[in-house]
Amino acid sequence: MRYPVIEINLSKIRRNTEIIVNICRSYGIDVVGVTKVSNGSIDIAKAFIDGGVRTLGDSKIENLKAFESLPVKKMLTRIPMISEAEDVVRYAHVSLNSEIEVIKALSMEAEKLGKIHEVILMIDVGDLREGIYYEDEVYEVVEEILKLKGVKLTGIGTNLTCFGAIIPSKENLGKLVDIKNKIESNFNINIEVVSGGNSSSLCLIQKDEMPKGINQLRLGTALILGLIEVTWTRIPGTYIDAFKLIAEIVEIKQKPSKPIGEVAMDAFRNIPVFKDEGEMVRAICAVGKQDCDPNFMEPIDKRIRILGSSSDHLILDITKCKEDYKVGDKISFVLDYVAILRCMTSSHVEKYIDYREIEEYAMRRVNS
Ligand SMILES: *Cc1c(COP(=O)(O)O)cnc(C)c1O
Repeated sequence: MRYPVIEINLSKIRRNTEIIVNICRSYGIDVVGVTKVSNGSIDIAKAFIDGGVRTLGDSKIENLKAFESLPVKKMLTRIPMISEAEDVVRYAHVSLNSEIEVIKALSMEAEKLGKIHEVILMIDVGDLREGIYYEDEVYEVVEEILKLKGVKLTGIGTNLTCFGAIIPSKENLGKLVDIKNKIESNFNINIEVVSGGNSSSLCLIQKDEMPKGINQLRLGTALILGLIEVTWTRIPGTYIDAFKLIAEIVEIKQKPSKPIGEVAMDAFRNIPVFKDEGEMVRAICAVGKQDCDPNFMEPIDKRIRILGSSSDHLILDITKCKEDYKVGDKISFVLDYVAILRCMTSSHVEKYIDYREIEEYAMRRVNS
């Protein structure tokens, strides 16, 4: 096998999905499984489906195209580029939208293909990424959408915590439900879907404060890590180690802990600060910032400490376990979202799908 490798355990992803889909179902919430972190992996998409997901969401239309044969609904989660309107209608059943010109383009393409494309109108309740911010504009845009023949306004939605780091609350998601009610009464129509955000919105289920009326969540992080980042809590029974990075040691040497000489900026324009901890045994693994992110990973062997990295080198302190490692050995890491995203996107990281069932594992649980 070529290294570094990202090892993906599908049964852990499936189990995570089952647990979360069931929790959400008990609140009347349908889960869209957001696959963008896995870079179009059909295996991971299937694990979501096996776990009970009936809609797959992705930010990239190429990824949805790769899922064409999978028998579920597809949602484009990034508001579409007008230049990709035709592909959006072709490969997605539904898309999140905030611009009437784009929605008109989608309608036109849908009419050409003899389809009806579903639109979820995005409303910005404070995170200041995508969506209509001022309520009057919402009703103006709804009125325009209702005139179009190729699209159907199936729902409204919002996204939180991604840009402005705003925490979902009964107030901000409640506002979404209020707007839904007003649209329904103003226009005498039925809004089927109220899409209440991403994994961070699960914190309202934890607090039992999810506003009534929210009936869809779009979940990526929670399904792959079992993690709700906004409260930094784990969903009981889920696995955080469905993804592991395995990297090879290319150097082991005893060296000082503090670099010697005058300090400038490092390769990433930071001025590094090192404490003098005396001599240590340091290992270098052949992986770096280009293909993963050392700030978002953790060695499974707790005796190992990550010291830092450059584009292609990961520097570790292995003083506490120096007897156990030699050049050529492999070191495994549990990955957080950003590291998974980068590993999955990198063509230099080998993808290894582990098809074994969870029961065959020693049930080693990390960080739970
Ligand atoms: C990425 C994304 C999601 C999924 O986010 P997670 O935090 O990974 O659950 C949902 N909706 C939109 C619009 C997104 O961009």
